[in-house]
Amino acid sequence: MMENIKHIPENGKKRVVIIGGGFAGLKLARQLANTAYQVVLIDKNNFHQFQPLFYQVATSGLEPSSIAFPLRKIFQKKRNVHFRMADLLEVNPNIHEIYTNLGKLKYDCLVLATGVDTNYFGNKNIEQFAIPMKSVSEAIFLRNSILRNYEKALNESDPEKAANYMNIVLVGGGPTGVELAGALAEMKSDILPKDYPELDFSLMNVYLFEASDRLLNGMSDAASKKAETYLKKLGVIVKTEARVSDYDGLSIKLDSGEEFNSYTLVWAAGVIANPIKGISKIAATRGGRIRVDLFNKVAGFNHVYAIGDLAIQKEGDFQNGHPQVAQVGLQQAGNLAKNLKLLLQGEKMKPFRYKDRGSMATIGKNLAVADLPGVKMQGFFAWVLWLFVHLMSIVGIKNRFFILINWVWNYFTSDQSLRILIRPKKRSFTDRASEEHQRIKKINLN
Ligand SMILES: Cc1cc2nc3c(=O)[nH]c(=O)nc-3n(C[C@H](O)[C@H](O)[C@H](O)COP(=O)(O)OP(=O)(O)OC[C@H]3O[C@@H](n4cnc5c(N)ncnc54)[C@H](O)[C@@H]3O)c2cc1C
Repeated sequence: MMENIKHIPENGKKRVVIIGGGFAGLKLARQLANTAYQVVLIDKNNFHQFQPLFYQVATSGLEPSSIAFPLRKIFQKKRNVHFRMADLLEVNPNIHEIYTNLGKLKYDCLVLATGVDTNYFGNKNIEQFAIPMKSVSEAIFLRNSILRNYEKALNESDPEKAANYMNIVLVGGGPTGVELAGALAEMKSDILPKDYPELDFSLMNVYLFEASDRLLNGMSDAASKKAETYLKKLGVIVKTEARVSDYDGLSIKLDSGEEFNSYTLVWAAGVIANPIKGISKIAATRGGRIRVDLFNKVAGFNHVYAIGDLAIQKEGDFQNGHPQVAQVGLQQAGNLAKNLKLLLQGEKMKPFRYKDRGSMATIGKNLAVADLPGVKMQGFFAWVLWLFVHLMSIVGIKNRFFILINWVWNYFTSDQSLRILIRPKKRSFTDRASEEHQRIKKINLN
């Protein structure tokens, strides 16, 4: 029998359990703080992560701690909000209960905001060897892989073998692939040759492969063309209509039969929602997204809601669902918070309507594209706007300050200084056993 999660008081308040402290879940929890609800926020990590800047961590431009924020700190003074670091395992909607690795918990209202994960489309080889970019730890892993491969390249006398370590292949021409490609191209021209003067950088290529016929599919044609022009100017080899079919850790095969070699392949080609036991079988659709109505209530369930990337909602111009971007999750969380407050007063809930505020992608220093309502911008002004919007969206004043300092420093020096390869110390089991033996021997001698 699973026990209850401990130290969450039964105080007569209606309990809203939110699973996921990403953009959507965190905003909802913040808006329900200091209300008559008891809020329990559950996330498998103890921090909120700002995914749009993962690529800067991966390319040594920002510290991981600048884009991750401890969830407990946000709610230090909010007595009605309880945070638990736990993994959601199952929901039993019939008895209003969730099950986690910490125990079970009853809810009056359950909000699912667990987002999505990397989709390898069933290709086990790619899943085994490629590097994804869906968490801050994966961004750090990519940074470490790049730095480790450059150290290895130095030890190769055969230029072809050295190039395998130096080349970087990015799969997926959405904002992640495009932004990463631009940042890596700048590293190739401004930073890596200074760090590794013994290497021949004419051997290094940054490739960007996209299966459809254009980059930045969710943006305008003008933005997509400009992004490709900017990337090519920076030296990135861009290939559209190029579908990667296999990767064995070195050799990359395209559907066309072409082959490329690299020890670093970043997979940013698709996302899928992890199934939620007890819910997904009935309510999940394409890509595992959970079907919700205009109030974000999960189809077929009472008192269960889904918001953010996980949810798929037919509304207005978005009959195939909204794009999986931060603004959608933030706006859905805002609307649901208002609705839950209305419910407390016995009033009717209001349907959700998405206000599209546009989209942006940055390619490099002074280079960005932005599609805003009624205006399309490219180049320097789009880049300044991108910096401003991202800086203001970061949680925490200290984080904003450190990011600003880093950006100003990087802008003027073109030399981010975070190229540190941190790895756990390798100690074999025998080493540890022998150390323990020595320690016990010492105690006995004394
Ligand atoms: C590299 C990258 C770049 C991006 N760039 C942009 C951009 O520039 N602009 C933009 O608008 N959008 C961007 N996005 C998309 C944006 O980040 C998402 O739309 C947004 O994060 C969705 O918010 P969410 O709250 O639905 O999910 P998430 O932010 O993904 O949060 C989900 C949370 O749920 C937790 N969780 C998951 N499963 C469980 C479980 N079983 N138990 C407990 N907790 C769980 C996770 O730890 C996480 O904290 C980017 C995404 C990526 C990956």
